[in-house]
Amino acid sequence: MAAEVRPRLTVLSGPSGVGKSTVVAHMRKVHPEVWLSVSATTRKPRPGEQGGVHYFFVTDDEFDKLVANGELLEWAEFAGNRYGTPRAAVMERLDRGEPVLLEIDLQGARLVRESMPEAQLVFLAPPSWEELVRRLTGRGTESQEVIERRLEAAKTELAAEAEFDTTLVNTSVEDVARELLALMAVV
Ligand code: 5GP
Repeated sequence: MAAEVRPRLTVLSGPSGVGKSTVVAHMRKVHPEVWLSVSATTRKPRPGEQGGVHYFFVTDDEFDKLVANGELLEWAEFAGNRYGTPRAAVMERLDRGEPVLLEIDLQGARLVRESMPEAQLVFLAPPSWEELVRRLTGRGTESQEVIERRLEAAKTELAAEAEFDTTLVNTSVEDVARELLALMAVV
């Protein structure tokens, strides 16, 4: 008997600045039906970011409550802010058999692996270290101090690649988005 093909939880992770959000945005343009979890964060919105779309922007107190009430599937502190995945929306979709995508940092990916071993962990790698530095610096939205913190975190994150099930190298947004969709069994 053929094994049941069941959509599962896919986690996309990789260093800050590698292009995770660009890949995800492209993927959703081509396949709007793919559902991406919207995280809660204590970070302030960047220009153009909308609450409820890119993130749920919350205060420290509100984040504390989400944690205390067990409403987050996982959460982590990253470069001075907290980020977490609201649990209920993810579980509802998985229960309905729909594919779910999380775009989260390395610590979050590790927590998901612990609590949901069947999740598929995908690592998005930069074509080179130089390219990652260029992208993080060129974004122009963060201060030098924040960039330094993110580059420091990136070194740790790059070293964790072997913990993931699959690595995709971000040479082309279109290619990576297509590969990710195939891994999620959407196409
Ligand atoms: P940014 O501030 O650049 O939007 O995100 C910083 C880092 O936090 C990125 O690596 C992003 O993937 C990660 N991140 C976003 N949402 C979540 C989340 O819900 N949980 C965790 N653990 N990391 C997240």
